[in-house]
Amino acid sequence: MFSRTKMKVLKFGGTSVGSPQRIKSVADLIVREEGNIVVLSAMSGTTNQLLEISDYLVKYNPTGALETLARLDRKYAGVIDELFPEKSEWRDKAASVIRECMNYIADEIHNQKDLLQAEKNIVSRGEIMSTNLMLFHLNSKGIDARMLPALDFMTIDESEEPDLAAITRNLSKLLESTPKTYIYITQGFIVRNHRGEIDNLKRGGSDYTASLIGAAIGADEIQIWTDIDGMHNNDPRFVENTAPVHKLHFEEAAELAYFGAKILHPTCILPAKLANIPVRLLNTMQPEAEGTLIFNTAPDHSIKAVAAKDNITAIKIKSGRMLLAYGFLSRVFSIFERYRTSIDMIVTSEVGVSVTIDNEQNLPQILDELKKLGTITVDRDMVIICVVGDLEWSNRGFEAAVVNALKDLPVRMISYGGSNYNISLLVRKSDKIKALNLLSDYLFNN
Ligand code: ADP
Ligand code: ASP
Ligand code: MG
Repeated sequence: MFSRTKMKVLKFGGTSVGSPQRIKSVADLIVREEGNIVVLSAMSGTTNQLLEISDYLVKYNPTGALETLARLDRKYAGVIDELFPEKSEWRDKAASVIRECMNYIADEIHNQKDLLQAEKNIVSRGEIMSTNLMLFHLNSKGIDARMLPALDFMTIDESEEPDLAAITRNLSKLLESTPKTYIYITQGFIVRNHRGEIDNLKRGGSDYTASLIGAAIGADEIQIWTDIDGMHNNDPRFVENTAPVHKLHFEEAAELAYFGAKILHPTCILPAKLANIPVRLLNTMQPEAEGTLIFNTAPDHSIKAVAAKDNITAIKIKSGRMLLAYGFLSRVFSIFERYRTSIDMIVTSEVGVSVTIDNEQNLPQILDELKKLGTITVDRDMVIICVVGDLEWSNRGFEAAVVNALKDLPVRMISYGGSNYNISLLVRKSDKIKALNLLSDYLFNN
């Protein structure tokens, strides 16, 4: 295994590397922090533009795809000019990688073969471009940095889950065969699937790459550098006067990430938690800010933060006849399992059970089968509001405070006691912003 006295994984998101100026500031941070492995996202806007190109392909409009590519090409020409104003070996190397990426995308547009695979191939170039720009910029400043290509070691298995054992093996081999250096740079987000094709960890997946690498090398710390000073106690996109939470338990952070705190990819805490590696959330624009440290904190009996998860559908199955009879719930769950649809919330009563899902892909088939078990009601356009903290049940008053804060809003479901860390409430999408603000006023701003 790769070993140095101090091993850290540093991940910088899209905004953090979103302009030549930002790339230069991040380079300074990388050197200052002595990050051994640096994971980068694509420059902000690039992933969206690459997806737009694929979308034109799906719509059989190669002209639209080529025009979008030309815009992207002009943008990166400008980035090269600003990052490497003088003629140099490093400018030539960077320009040549960008040219290869543009040609690769143009080939995908002309080929028009497997469009689903083309999208994955095209979108992978975003991270390949940003990491090469950073690598050659660091090299041009005389800093010893090398590339660890993510497509040489990041893998997902047949069920599209990261294969941590394989990643650990591949990365260890790759590090052994790569000359020792001060800094290694790699791409977030992109992976190979079990067939060896290019794939990815879904939007926001660079965080997940960082925690998987952290777990694979047994890092001391995983740092997620972004555009805000840590995990705030509510969603700053919808609530004013939010404040950073300086310490979070792994479980609290995992709940917040899963239930909509966009600062973290939904599943990125798990590998760090299993390997017991602290995760620190830091702000590239304000590097001295304390940020958030996520680790095995001691219980502190407080509510920490609120998040919201969109696009939720609630399904109620009413069956006077057999609900709560032995085996009924298992029949309900097996239908969701068969259609690979995970359930987020569940509440039961004597005559009915309600569950929520966030993926409607197989809803018609699921409903057809559920109708054999009872009478079905579906509520669409719902939102899960998730309140997170050290909510162990012998602590008093938390659930009362949460319900009280929302007393003037219609609440479709409430779930509490599933873990020590979360109370979830299902409300209408149209009530989401109001619910987040009421909770902020009631829980944090008194
Ligand atoms: P990056 O591009 O670095 O991965 P993201 O845009 O994915 O950054 O995540 C950072 C953004 O997450 C912030 O700018 C903020 O708007 C949003 N966000 C949502 N909920 C929270 C929260 N609870 N705390 C902090 N940021 C949040
Ligand atoms: N570039 C990818 C995205 O925009 C992955 C990431 O930034 O984490 O979703
Ligand atoms: Mg992100």
